[in-house]
Amino acid sequence: MTATALAQTNSPPILQLVGVRKTFGDFAAVERIDLDIREGEFLTVVGPSGSGKTTLLRMLAGMEQPSQGEITLRGRRINDVPSNRRPTCLVFQSLALFPHKTVGENIEFPLKVRKVAPADRKARAIELLRMVRLPESYYGKNVMKCSGGERQRVALARALAYDPEVLFFDEPLSALDYKLRKAMEKELKDLHRESGKTFIYITHSLEEAMVMSDRIGVMQAGRLVQVGTPEEIYTRPSTKFVSEFMGEVNVFEAARAGGLWRIDGLAAPAKITLPPSMSGAAKAAIVVRPEFMRFVDTPDGADNCLSGVVFNEYSLGSRIQYQVRVGARTFLLELSRANARRTQGDTALIGWNAADAIVVEP
Ligand code: ADP
Ligand code: MG
Repeated sequence: MTATALAQTNSPPILQLVGVRKTFGDFAAVERIDLDIREGEFLTVVGPSGSGKTTLLRMLAGMEQPSQGEITLRGRRINDVPSNRRPTCLVFQSLALFPHKTVGENIEFPLKVRKVAPADRKARAIELLRMVRLPESYYGKNVMKCSGGERQRVALARALAYDPEVLFFDEPLSALDYKLRKAMEKELKDLHRESGKTFIYITHSLEEAMVMSDRIGVMQAGRLVQVGTPEEIYTRPSTKFVSEFMGEVNVFEAARAGGLWRIDGLAAPAKITLPPSMSGAAKAAIVVRPEFMRFVDTPDGADNCLSGVVFNEYSLGSRIQYQVRVGARTFLLELSRANARRTQGDTALIGWNAADAIVVEP
């Protein structure tokens, strides 16, 4: 852990949620969330469409009141403080620029409202242009003459000109093309570091969350099912849902039979390591990432082995992905070219080691 990350761990939360719930009629869009948001962190909330991300963000930003629970900002209850009276929080909206004004006028707008002197406003706008990686010459440019990506940056600069302590983002990059989105992800991360602000970011793209965040919270059907560093979420997902949300994985259903664990298609008892929380479980889901599966020559070549047929192979550049059929199921392997010694139609033994599997509740 870096020194900054450590400092963040020890600092009191800037925003705190205790038992926060939001219902629409008798439907709960957000279910009893407890969460501490640390000063200066980049926290991303991911989850499929409809899982309650926007509703959560709207409550944090003051655009929606919780039906139950408490939201505190630096220890002060803010449940019913509307967004325009929360100067500390700002939702980033890229489409709300003033179309007939220049880049400079757009960025300076919040400063003008606060009656900052023109020379100081301009100096700050130039500083912000640099921060969002736009040339100084853009200061006098009409904002409608900027490209989509540039406008996004102008909107970011304007958001920073408000000098909020917390910036909220609700899927700001989803309308951009792939290449621009990739570039903006990295720039947002840099901007976060340079500005020192707390960023709360929402996306349905786990890839985006992985690139930018200090911590990721995963939502499923209104619940925050896991919160952790990208590394923790990737290597130690707490549920099958989280592991599947984190990319393509192989899932084996295991059941206890007479003190041993059995997996369909596996001749021998399965070798798995249960987390302590599941010591009494009768069933388990064994999650193995494609990069931890490999071809083996004999059944003792890995802790657990299955026999199947190579059904498809795809080049991923430096790596090759294989689909292997075992009965009615298909499993994925991802191997470097050097280890990819099978081809379509081959009968193949595939295997994985207990230490490389993630065991979660089914
Ligand atoms: P996400 O941002 O993760 O896609 P939302 O927070 O927008 O999810 O929505 C979560 C659920 O709450 C959805 O089922 C949505 O239809 C419902 N919902 C959101 N806002 C309202 C509202 N104002 N009235 C009724 N239902 C709503
Ligand atoms: Mg949403």
